[in-house]
Amino acid sequence: MTLHVNLDDEAGRLSALKRYQILDTNPEERFDRITKVVQLSLDVPIALISLVDEDRQWFKSVHGLDVTETARDISFCTHTVADKSPLMVEDASTDARFCNNPLVRGDPNIRSYIGVPLVSPDGYAIGTLCAIDTSPRQHNVENIALITSLSELVIHEMELRQQAETDALTGALNRSAFGSEVQKCVSLFERQKIESSLLVFDLDHFKQVNDNFGHAAGDEVLRTIASEVKMSLRPTDVFARIGGEEFAILMTGTTRNEPVAAAERFRKTIANCKFEGLPDLEVTASFGIAKISKDIGQYSDWLKKADRGLYIAKDCGRNLIFDTNGPCGSQ
Ligand code: GH3
Ligand code: MG
Ligand code: MG
Repeated sequence: MTLHVNLDDEAGRLSALKRYQILDTNPEERFDRITKVVQLSLDVPIALISLVDEDRQWFKSVHGLDVTETARDISFCTHTVADKSPLMVEDASTDARFCNNPLVRGDPNIRSYIGVPLVSPDGYAIGTLCAIDTSPRQHNVENIALITSLSELVIHEMELRQQAETDALTGALNRSAFGSEVQKCVSLFERQKIESSLLVFDLDHFKQVNDNFGHAAGDEVLRTIASEVKMSLRPTDVFARIGGEEFAILMTGTTRNEPVAAAERFRKTIANCKFEGLPDLEVTASFGIAKISKDIGQYSDWLKKADRGLYIAKDCGRNLIFDTNGPCGSQ
């Protein structure tokens, strides 16, 4: 199979990487197993899966190094990502591109490097699978073939991981994956007092959309709304479909009024949505907001609190936002 590698579109490449929602996640055995195979079969001290982000390379899996990321400008992998084929460096200390690199001149004293680009199905090289040695060496064709097959396996695992975490209709995170993200935020608050807010929203009178236009039209409405909301998220917001026509947004590091302002933006976005084939249809949503607080120990407590806000917004007439931390609790 020949893959088209899209080299010139850095913004597209970064979006392809972000779509996997894998940056800064915990190590996972399915990836650690692959790097272990690389380390053992190529007999190298260091093997890693590097994902090349805007300014850094971040390691989803790493054997033989104590760091989880390095600056992008000193990374070997950024060269592999910019290449159409595996990059092999026999002795970095005599290679003009790398001889002054701090990773060569000092720790971990890289000498040989072989890296294969990880190419997404839409043709973007998002990172590499690579093997590093502290002595100069050349890899034979068998090694190159092996690491190339394993790089395809890495992408396959990333795709499976992605499918398990996202909702098929809207591409938003599913309820269970969202739960893990929210739980991380709860811990972040306990350890570092970083404030976050949880927004939930539910489409108003959505049953009528199905009743009047059919289930397929209802699906199209859900897809369109999810895609419009996604476009007005901040890069750090996490968006999920947590029920049939219920969605949630986790906003980390928010200031006092930010979540309400964001909810107001989403509320308007939804009310202004246009749907293909349904020119006269208008859909609204009701919102509940809950800020993280000391009494929230887990995801379900937090969600309950935001849901309380949502029910009040419904009771007060719908197409409204209720902030459970607001001045008198309402908007
Ligand atoms: P409310 O304003 O109180 O939320 O009213 P509602 O009609 O939105 O709420 P209700 O819970 O009565 O109905 C939700 C509807 O959402 C019913 C269900 O068929 C529809 N729904 C849930 N999931 C999907 C889906 O995946 N596709 C479609 N087309 N409809 C869905
Ligand atoms: Mg509803
Ligand atoms: Mg509902």
